[in-house]
Amino acid sequence: MIKIADERLEILFKMAEDEFSLHPQRSHRYVEMARSIAQKYNLKMPSYWRGRYCKGCKRFLKHGLNSKVRLNHSAVTIECLECGEVSTMPYLKEQKTKRRKRIESRTFQEGNYE
Ligand SMILES: [Zn+2]
Repeated sequence: MIKIADERLEILFKMAEDEFSLHPQRSHRYVEMARSIAQKYNLKMPSYWRGRYCKGCKRFLKHGLNSKVRLNHSAVTIECLECGEVSTMPYLKEQKTKRRKRIESRTFQEGNYE
């Protein structure tokens, strides 16, 4: 169940992202839905999306459109242009999302026992 809920969070945020330019109200609703799912199943918001909604007015934030993002040395500040809420998140050193290619290079060296 938790896995399904987790996936739904991802889907809702992706939909919010996609819809924002045309239907910002829908995006805000998707965030609302995601938040209620997270509460219901006691889930943490996916880290990737954590800075993508306002903690004040709970709206979806699209960087550069209704939010301003600033990077400091140790933190990211996100200002919501809808309500003025500023949230600060500790800056994670380059999130390691690069998927390392698993090179399965198994070299079976069959010894020559002569
Ligand atoms: Zn806000």
